[in-house]
Amino acid sequence: MPEPRLLLADRVAQLYGQLPIGAAATLLIVVISVYALRRSDQSWIVYGWSSVALAITTARLLLWWNYQRSTRTVEQAQRWMRWLTLGAIANGLIWGLLASLFFELMTEHEHLFIVLVLGGVMVGGIAMYASSWFLFAAYGAPIVLPFTYGLATHDDVLVRGVAILIPLFYAVSVGVAYRLDQLFLAGFRTQRAYRQLNAECAALNQRLAQQLQEIAVARGQVEASGRKLALFVERSPVAVFELDPQGRALNVNPAAEHLLGFAASELSGRPVAELLFAPEQAAELLARWRQMLRARQPVMPLRQTTRRRDGHEIVCEWSLTPLVNAEGRVISVIAQGRDITQQLEAERLKQEFTSTLSHELRTPLTAVLGALQLVNSGAVGSPDAEVRELTQIAERNSQRLLELINDVLDLEKVEAGKLPVELQAMPLEELVRESLTLNRAYGERFGVRFAMSDELPSALVHADRRRVLQVMTNLLSNAAKFSPEGATVEVTLQDQGSHLRVGVHDRGPGIPHGFHARIFSRFAQADMSLTREKGGTGLGLAICKRLVELMGGRIGFSARAGGGTTFWFELPKHAAAVP
Ligand code: ADP
Repeated sequence: MPEPRLLLADRVAQLYGQLPIGAAATLLIVVISVYALRRSDQSWIVYGWSSVALAITTARLLLWWNYQRSTRTVEQAQRWMRWLTLGAIANGLIWGLLASLFFELMTEHEHLFIVLVLGGVMVGGIAMYASSWFLFAAYGAPIVLPFTYGLATHDDVLVRGVAILIPLFYAVSVGVAYRLDQLFLAGFRTQRAYRQLNAECAALNQRLAQQLQEIAVARGQVEASGRKLALFVERSPVAVFELDPQGRALNVNPAAEHLLGFAASELSGRPVAELLFAPEQAAELLARWRQMLRARQPVMPLRQTTRRRDGHEIVCEWSLTPLVNAEGRVISVIAQGRDITQQLEAERLKQEFTSTLSHELRTPLTAVLGALQLVNSGAVGSPDAEVRELTQIAERNSQRLLELINDVLDLEKVEAGKLPVELQAMPLEELVRESLTLNRAYGERFGVRFAMSDELPSALVHADRRRVLQVMTNLLSNAAKFSPEGATVEVTLQDQGSHLRVGVHDRGPGIPHGFHARIFSRFAQADMSLTREKGGTGLGLAICKRLVELMGGRIGFSARAGGGTTFWFELPKHAAAVP
């Protein structure tokens, strides 16, 4: 809704716009009147009147001229309206004076002429001041009042009757002006609203143009990255499918065609799972697919026997990535697959080879070691010192070789999932004490003592006895190997709530920082030179980690305040022991 101040400014502009026409009409009527009344007895009054009319009209034109030159701001509209009102009254006064002349002039023709002029200027006034009833009223009053007065004081009854009609006519005219005023007001409002709409429309258009430009730029970027992406997918050695949420192929890359032997056109629009997987796998795959759609999270890796078009079966590692739009709806799913048949076969062959080789080595090596131990024990006579030294070296190295073979075999078994673990309730403290007794002799070789500082007599873990002893043996032998002579290795037990923790604390050199990330990997040793001196294969901790994890536990280490390392592992409490 436009403000009243703005509407007033519009009204003022409209009225000033009409002013020159009004002034011209006034001048024309004045000239005609002078011409018509020039022969009157009272011609000097006529000339006097025309001079006044001329002066007033000139003043009004000057007013118009000033308005045109002004800045015509909304704030000044009120002031310009006041001047207009004065101008309208003055204009009315011109015709009021003419009405007064009526009573001075004697002939009937002159009277008729004046009445016609007055009627004309009243009607003309309505047109002139149509947009402001108030201005019209101000203009009409100086015309009507003297005329009415003159008629009312006339001797003739008929003329006095006319005097009553004049104010009536005036009132009706003001009423008509009022109606026109309202129409103009509505017009001004519409005009304002239209202008505002136009301005808003222009601003909107400008914003729209700007946004269109931004969209064009963004589109260019999206197209460029789309092309790049398409190129990646096209050239990728990995099979890539774009699937709809029902699992039907939308797009397929050449690697997928090549891997599965299907042409893209054969796959397009068809449910891929039905083509590639055996019916027995369907239920499980469907469940995982639905779970992925619900969670909107990628699923990987999914190892599946996959059927090629020719019926040949391969093992593929699949990953599924849902593409989610801004509303959180899955619009499609990217499935990527890699043939790992050969990789699996290579792994199997490697495992088979290492375990066969290790077995084949272990049997004769055990025999060699037994024979050497027999010789060195002196049970088959005492060889001379030189031979004895050589047989002792041979025994030590055979022992190390056997350890290495055993470790390799263990690791292979764990990784192939072939190492049996029998989880049952085990009293942890007893198990740890046993491991200390078993390893005491080994510790003594390095002048190191093992000591247990805590007691948890009734604590039960859910674990495999042999494997816990294996882990303890490895941690204790490492602690003994790396501790200085005469040191004590402390063994602690802690209740961690759902788990029990065993800690082995030594005063050794600590673990170098750069070695932290690799310490639980195969064949990882911080200082290879120590291997020769102290023995070890670099496999012990790798085996420990896998064993502890097989039993549902965790393993780790931390630097010890005052020097040395703490190795720890946690095992789950047996269900009966969990409070
Ligand atoms: P290894 O049979 O060589 O001891 P492990 O896997 O048991 O193999 O240990 C790997 C390496 O971790 C060791 O060679 C040694 O560098 C480091 N390490 C293990 N335990 C300790 C320890 N208590 N203190 C210092 N270094 C250790």
